[in-house]
Amino acid sequence: MSIIDGNAIAQQILLEVKSRVAAIAPIVPHVAFVRVGDDPASVSYVSKKQKTAAEAGMKSSLRLFAHDVSKEELFAHLDTLNADASVHGILVQAPLPGHLSETEIFNRISRNKDVDGFTTSSLGQLAQELPGTFAPCTPAGILELLKRSGVKTAGAHAVVIGRSLIVGKPVALLLSARGTDATVTVCHSRTPNLARFTREADILVAAIGKPRLVTADMVKPGAVIIDVGINRIPDAAKKTGCRLVGDVDFDNVAPKASLITPVPGGVGPMTVAMLMKNTLAACERAAGMPAQSREPATAPTPFKA
Ligand code: NDP
Repeated sequence: MSIIDGNAIAQQILLEVKSRVAAIAPIVPHVAFVRVGDDPASVSYVSKKQKTAAEAGMKSSLRLFAHDVSKEELFAHLDTLNADASVHGILVQAPLPGHLSETEIFNRISRNKDVDGFTTSSLGQLAQELPGTFAPCTPAGILELLKRSGVKTAGAHAVVIGRSLIVGKPVALLLSARGTDATVTVCHSRTPNLARFTREADILVAAIGKPRLVTADMVKPGAVIIDVGINRIPDAAKKTGCRLVGDVDFDNVAPKASLITPVPGGVGPMTVAMLMKNTLAACERAAGMPAQSREPATAPTPFKA
């Protein structure tokens, strides 16, 4: 069994992005963040993304809105960002307060600046396998982890647990895309006898949000396990009183797997790295640079059979 080191792979991607950012100077990729309210996880995610952007030599900006901001105010700000040629990528941090429709807000972002890949247009383009589409960052990061770990996807049976628009659905589209060529089964909370499907998986992607739901008896020997889950469970030994675990029972599943991602340190760091890659790609596109230099950042990644 080997552990897929998401921190190391993300670092490698960030070095590649940084080197490319230096090469296109004096153009500086700029990602604009929008945060609504003070949800602690959102504060921490945006802060991490801004820090990473700075490390990669990119510019970032942040506009904060009160929890009760109206849709119209957000639209006005997004329209300004859309029209600002110095802004290459826009990210509205989810979750948004209940009175706002995330789909409606995300869809206000110009397609060319949708570096998070959540607009209806980007997701539709992903389904159509159009080149230059911004794939959502977590699914794109999962594909990159598989690619850089030498996992053969063509002909593999990939089972995805979860059908959210942020992870499950787009990762299923990327895995089954031409060039990646996995055969994909998507499971969810209404799937009877989940283990019947997961035991058939050569590649198992768990994007559920339930701590350690995937147990050793649900996994085929030699499978590649990608654990997307981020769950906080009580732990009196920790200063914070809790610790992070994934959707996979790591200690018992790891000995059966050929490759497995840990939590933390697996998929998580890739999400931020792919955001930087997408922002660089958006900047290069805006500057009219050749498609070749930006293609790997955005297109479904082809794998050798
Ligand atoms: P959602 O809650 O939107 O989706 C969870 C999915 O899991 C749903 O499709 C749901 O089914 C399914 N599900 C729930 N319970 C079961 C069950 N018992 N058996 C089978 N399927 C089940 O979550 P997200 O997709 O947004 O996130 C999933 C996890 O990934 C979370 O822990 C989240 O924190 C983490 N995450 C991590 C990221 C990273 O960067 N590492 C980024 C994004 C998310 P149904 O549709 O029927 O309700």
